[in-house]
Amino acid sequence: MPISLYNSLTRHTAPFAPLDPDRVTVYLCGPTVYNYVHIGNARGPVVFDVLVRLLRRHYPNVVYARNITDVEDKINAAAQAEGVPISTITDRYAGAYREDMARLGIAPPDLEPHATAHIGEIIAMNESLIASGHAYAAEGHVLFDVGSYAAYGALSGRDTDELIAGARVEVAPYKKSPGDFVLWKPSTPEQPGWDSPWGRGRPGWHIECSAMCAAQLGETIDIHAGGVDLLFPHHENEIAQSTCAHGGKTFARWWMHNGMLTFDGRKMSKSLGNVLVLHQLLKQHRPEALRLLLLRGHYRQPLDWSDNALAQAASTLDGWYRVLRDLADVVIDATRLPVPERMEAALCDDMNTPQALAELAVLADAARQQRTPEAKAALLGGGALLGLLQQDAEAWFRQAGGSDIDPARVEALIEQRQAARAARDFARADAIRGELADMGVVIEDGAQGTRWSVQKS
Ligand SMILES: [Zn+2]
Repeated sequence: MPISLYNSLTRHTAPFAPLDPDRVTVYLCGPTVYNYVHIGNARGPVVFDVLVRLLRRHYPNVVYARNITDVEDKINAAAQAEGVPISTITDRYAGAYREDMARLGIAPPDLEPHATAHIGEIIAMNESLIASGHAYAAEGHVLFDVGSYAAYGALSGRDTDELIAGARVEVAPYKKSPGDFVLWKPSTPEQPGWDSPWGRGRPGWHIECSAMCAAQLGETIDIHAGGVDLLFPHHENEIAQSTCAHGGKTFARWWMHNGMLTFDGRKMSKSLGNVLVLHQLLKQHRPEALRLLLLRGHYRQPLDWSDNALAQAASTLDGWYRVLRDLADVVIDATRLPVPERMEAALCDDMNTPQALAELAVLADAARQQRTPEAKAALLGGGALLGLLQQDAEAWFRQAGGSDIDPARVEALIEQRQAARAARDFARADAIRGELADMGVVIEDGAQGTRWSVQKS
């Protein structure tokens, strides 16, 4: 089954064919690590985690890189505010990022290049752009000469005048043209910096990704991914830098962009006060519900986040895990799960995750009705395609989702209740049930003993 993907550069969906089927290369623009990320920043990593899972089923060797931007002015500001070196800030928030991504069930990338580990490559790329007439040095800066690259604007579809108007042009006397962008800039003694032919300085943000892509994956890569907010100017500038530094070679053959998250229909922004910090959300809600919600919409469309949508996602997972819990005694080989064809087909159709989730719901219904090893394996296999349903069903129901319920305490109360029932002390048994209910724990007596779950998402 061929994989079809929409390419933001050609504006068409086409069958995906890698340059080298034995080494498929994917790059996702990673975080600038100066703070915790918000939930919107998690959509790309979740979506492209599903893409990489899909590619790995079709190709033997997929190399997936997600970078860490660890030198940038926001990081400098955060380090200055705390009076610490930038590495204190970047280590802290890169660590938190990895932890948050893991809790969302996102597999670690194969490569996690750091910008500060590629300063030599960045300087070399600057030199090559200057030598070929695509960049110039001025007052300690190096600037990309946008006028030197005729195809500038092809990705965003803007013409040069629009680009200049939209480039948030700063008054900078050293620029030849207002649209030219910074590849290298001078550092004050307090700012992080590296020696270069243009004096002590640090890279601009855009060139970091171009240099890391080339160093880690090669001059031409198969898929470059990121949020649609990065399309201009970041990705437009990456194309200009990489193409011009590599003698006109294609930089990325496929460009994929995920849509933005809105919050109750509005843009998430600091000024609106509706920024949802992922690190906090993961403490308040079950992570898999967040993952499911991020996959509910088609990746290219905007996705609306609301408490209601999150509660629905948790309730959907409750239903699916209930099926798996009821089939706990049905033995299957979990190491050889099938790939349900209709789900695979949906994902091969430009990553149609809403359709794939609809198919997963069908598999859950079938498993509920048929109660066979095949139906259970199909449900788990379908879940695996999306990185869902991979935990023990009991564990799902016992995740507190915000409250801090102590499982050992719950187990102890359930034992006491059983002892009370055995002694026919029903008043005591009811009192314990009430105590559990007050904690938000629901219990169900069944043939297999007493099960418990946490009431809220
Ligand atoms: Zn980037």
